[in-house]
Amino acid sequence: MDSKTRHDVRVDILNCDTDSVAFHVSGLDLSLINSVKRMMIAEVPTMAIEEVRFVDNKSGYLDQILAHRIGMIPLISSRVADQFLYQDECKCHDACSKCAVQFHLCVENDSPVDMKVTSRDLIPSDTQCPVKPAFTSYSEVVADDVEDEDEEVKASPLSSTAAVAAAAEQNRQKRTLSSVFSSSSSAGSRSRYIHWSTKDVETNEGVVIVTLKPGQRLELTAVARKGIGKTHAKWGPSVRAAKKNIPLIRLDRSQLCHLDEKATRAIVNACPRKVFVAAAQDDKKTGNAVLDIEDANACNFCGECTSLVHQYGMPSAITVDSSPREFIVSTGTTGALSPQEIVISALREFIQKIENDKKHLHVLMHQHKIALL
Ligand SMILES: [Zn+2]
Repeated sequence: MDSKTRHDVRVDILNCDTDSVAFHVSGLDLSLINSVKRMMIAEVPTMAIEEVRFVDNKSGYLDQILAHRIGMIPLISSRVADQFLYQDECKCHDACSKCAVQFHLCVENDSPVDMKVTSRDLIPSDTQCPVKPAFTSYSEVVADDVEDEDEEVKASPLSSTAAVAAAAEQNRQKRTLSSVFSSSSSAGSRSRYIHWSTKDVETNEGVVIVTLKPGQRLELTAVARKGIGKTHAKWGPSVRAAKKNIPLIRLDRSQLCHLDEKATRAIVNACPRKVFVAAAQDDKKTGNAVLDIEDANACNFCGECTSLVHQYGMPSAITVDSSPREFIVSTGTTGALSPQEIVISALREFIQKIENDKKHLHVLMHQHKIALL
């Protein structure tokens, strides 16, 4: 890429909120845009539950089904994926605080009605660890983290099974239907896992894992590890990553002026994205409404307009092409990372891969005595 091309690159943020981001890129090749898109889907590291060890499963579902559901729960991985090692990078035997985060879940339905077990019931053994189930929008989770600094459950080492069992038992005692629905009895608690208002139960109950019938019980330990979406979709931080070509629509007005008003309005109505409009000012010669472009960026290249002008015998009256170096890129988050972090991490991973490839290329060139001209 020469210096001129580099200066031509421009990025404009079109939309950025807690769930998604979209930006307009000009001056880059399609191959680079697709690479960034692939990075957002498959190469950004996050934490996800990799192992589930069942202690007691008296629900109506098999261990395997519950383990799969739990594995797909997004975990908040903001700024922490870099602080953990991949399992094969760590020198520990099984799992340690450098490569894993442990959760425990212990819920017993001692009420006369059904009870939902959700991601809120997954309690981290180390409450200071920011890796937690993501169950609401990203900003709300971060705000809760600030409030939860003085949570009652104390941090415990990953290998301390006694501490995990004690915390699980503490959770089991609190997790009854009466405590969930009684705001007065838990008014002093700041634990968002247990203290739900009625509104929270209706709208923000977390990811449902299973529904327990009266008398049923579920207890398990789960271990989250660092990974990427290329290994398994549960590590992917993006619910989608898309690029859209910028449409280039050209109207040949010398031909379009020969269309009668019915044909012009047929083109306007044929477009499902309302790209065209019948201009308010009529053609001075014929008195017909003239075709004009209302919103070119809305075009999805369906070809309805061009097929109509083909039928009218003037195929070059409307041409729709895509700009080779202009794109709209967008992505949405699962809740594991903010949309901005997904994009920044994807670019960082991309640059890292290029650097690694450059090093390997230099080694190969040195070995085979190849020099650049
Ligand atoms: Zn380890």
